[in-house]
Amino acid sequence: MLSYRHGFHAGNFADVLKHSLLTLTINALKQKDKPFVYIDTHAGAGKYSFKSEFSQKTGEYEQGIGRVWTAAQPPVEIKDYLSAVRAENTGKQLVRYPGSPQLVRRLIRAQDRMQLSELHGKDYEILHQLFATDKQVSVAKEDGLERLSKKLPPIQKRGLILIDPSYEVKSDYNKVVEVLENAHRHFATGIYGLWYPIIDRSVTDRMLQRLKATAIPKQLRIEHCVAPDGALRGMTGSGMLFINPPWQLQSQAEALLPWLNQELTDGQGTWKVEWLVPELV
Ligand code: SAM
Repeated sequence: MLSYRHGFHAGNFADVLKHSLLTLTINALKQKDKPFVYIDTHAGAGKYSFKSEFSQKTGEYEQGIGRVWTAAQPPVEIKDYLSAVRAENTGKQLVRYPGSPQLVRRLIRAQDRMQLSELHGKDYEILHQLFATDKQVSVAKEDGLERLSKKLPPIQKRGLILIDPSYEVKSDYNKVVEVLENAHRHFATGIYGLWYPIIDRSVTDRMLQRLKATAIPKQLRIEHCVAPDGALRGMTGSGMLFINPPWQLQSQAEALLPWLNQELTDGQGTWKVEWLVPELV
């Protein structure tokens, strides 16, 4: 049984990285009028309250979105993400946070669609309620990894697939590689964004090596660590592995990461933007 609830972690440093890169990728898809689909294999509850017992218990958001949401001069690369967070918070206090579904819902156009999967019973119910009357969004209580290849290729032939497991089940580190390989066979031109944590560096490295060994071309790795490997109990950093990233994403990340690192860690952290597998020549 799944016990992970994203409410404990919503808005933390890893969400800031994931959601700002997600916003940049959706914006890139919007540069063409043609419709696209956003598939979220691990959608969570959709949006979160920092007044909930979950957030109150950990306070993780204070070291994440809490540090950047009112930044005086944020770089252009993070502006739309911060605007989406501010749109959730009408007062001066930061009390609500858009998870990936609510964030993307704020960004898509009338012609675009969203397909969300969530397995946890309670978070599924909250997510289902959030989009119950929304004709652009479908929500399913299902295994998002198992179901992914059945949804591909999408009828729009354009899309972003976010794969954002909690890695509560350790086999997820292997499973996501198999799922991505299979999904890419069905929909080679799709944009894929895989989120990963750095808890045990050797486990993360093994997963990345396996991804590299698939030889799927155009794999871009974007990573931010707030502390050296192993220096904290739990997560010291996180990353996103993009397949077929929009062409601007590398330079946007190279502009964003130094700023994020300064704001979130006072410059004490480290970051990298590198091709795990480059474009075939
Ligand atoms: N994507 C969300 C966001 O950015 O706001 C956060 C998702 S959270 C990291 C991972 C979620 O995946 C949890 O809500 C968990 O219940 C759910 N989950 C775990 N395994 C799953 C699976 N195989 N299929 C669908 N959902 C799953």
